[in-house]
Formats: sequence, C-alpha cells, structure tokens
Amino acid sequence: MHTPTPPARILPAVDMDTLPYWTGGKNGQLLIHRCGDCAYLVHPPVPFCPACDGRNVAPVPVSGRGRVTTFTINHKPWVPGLPVPYVLALVELEEQADVRLVSNITHCDPAEVTFGMAVEVYFEPVEDLYVPLFRPVERLA
Ligand SMILES: [Zn+2]
Repeated sequence: MHTPTPPARILPAVDMDTLPYWTGGKNGQLLIHRCGDCAYLVHPPVPFCPACDGRNVAPVPVSGRGRVTTFTINHKPWVPGLPVPYVLALVELEEQADVRLVSNITHCDPAEVTFGMAVEVYFEPVEDLYVPLFRPVERLA
C-alpha cells in the first residue's frame, strides 16, 4: 500500500475532547481537562472523570511546568523535515504527577536531557493547531 509523504510534524487526530489541548496555545495556555467535582486532572481528555465518575469535566489552563518522566532520543529520520536527533518524552505536570504528556524536548542538546529535568511548555503553530512542546526551565545563575 502506498503511503503518502507525511508532513514535517505528524498532526494528531483532533476531536471535541482533544481540541482544547491542541488549540489552547493560541492564547498561550496549556489546557487540561479538570473535574469540577473532585479537581482531578483528566488526560488524555475524555468527557468524564475516572476518579469520581463525574461528568462535570472541562478544560482549564495549567502552569505548563513539569518534569521529564522518561524519554528516548530518536536518531532515525522517520519524519522528513524534522531534524534528528530529537527527544521524545513523557512529561508529568507539576499539578498532578499522573498527567503525562507525550511531547518533544527542544531548546537543548538531546544529550543534556535527564530524568526529572524541569521543563516548561511552549507552543509550535502547525496549520490550525498549537502543538505543546517542552524546553528546559531557565535556571537563574
Ligand atoms: Zn472527579
């Protein structure tokens, strides 16, 4: 089967639940679904709360700060236009450790990425979406 050439960044399939996550960057906000009844953060976003079974779930802005839980350095040019090596990581949010976002770590040498490294979100506009990516938190000297 012929596979068409993918774009520089493979865009997610976006639906009503995931749209806020992929577009909040337009306003500089990382939007994560939050339960209005028990305050549990729900990610990946679904319209109910796995903690209390409530339906009072809606996207709210979070700090965008977190830590690298695990990562791999990809050296293979799977995606044309995306330079290698790049870092594919799971980032746990400051607000709730079991909210783990699949993203890339940029703005540093891949060899400098460590487990537990503090990172912060920024957004890369791609077509109609704002892809949440992470970079090291600037440390004050
Ligand atoms: Zn809940």
